[in-house]
Amino acid sequence: MKIAIIEDEIGITNFLKQGLEEEQFTVLIANDGKTGWELIQQSKPDLILLDWTLPKISGIEVCRKVRENGIQTPILFLTARDTVQDTIEGLKAGANDYIKKPFSFDELLARINVYFRKDIVPESVTLGPILMHLLKHEVHVLERKVTLTQREFELLYFLIKNKGKACSRTQIIEEVWNIHFEYDTGVIDVFMNSIRKKLNLPKDQELIKTIRGIGYIAND
Ligand code: CA
Repeated sequence: MKIAIIEDEIGITNFLKQGLEEEQFTVLIANDGKTGWELIQQSKPDLILLDWTLPKISGIEVCRKVRENGIQTPILFLTARDTVQDTIEGLKAGANDYIKKPFSFDELLARINVYFRKDIVPESVTLGPILMHLLKHEVHVLERKVTLTQREFELLYFLIKNKGKACSRTQIIEEVWNIHFEYDTGVIDVFMNSIRKKLNLPKDQELIKTIRGIGYIAND
């Protein structure tokens, strides 16, 4: 996960960089608004920490540019200006949240984690007679153990996790394969065929259905 810090106070950028890298984030830094805006366009961060008062282009102008260009990346303002009016201005410009300086690192991290909230992985999930032990990385159909490859396992888990919801091919490619560009989604069918074969459920118990032209849906 990439976080861009656009802030002209070196002390703050260093402090944030060190703390965020310890939390396994990739940190990108710009020390003025103009460089910051270029950085956002080039590096496509997953979250932007944006100072309000910046040289060259102000934080609020950067924020407006980001939104005017259709970039939806969450923006968290770092601001010493704490009047209600300024806050409203920042949120109107498209910021998602703001944090008042001075702030503690833990406080900032808690705000950041709202945007990177990881799915809390349960110990196991089920779909009809299928039981997936996520911790043990095992799949059982009733008493029979089924051996899936890593990708098959992830695909099956994704569909079960989204039980009752149609999952589009694009969504599956993005979430399971982590591919975010145009890609031949036919690969999904190959994996699905293999999963179905291995699960070997009776035809009338086909719990994962193909939705023609869309993708797949799992239903108990
Ligand atoms: Ca500043």
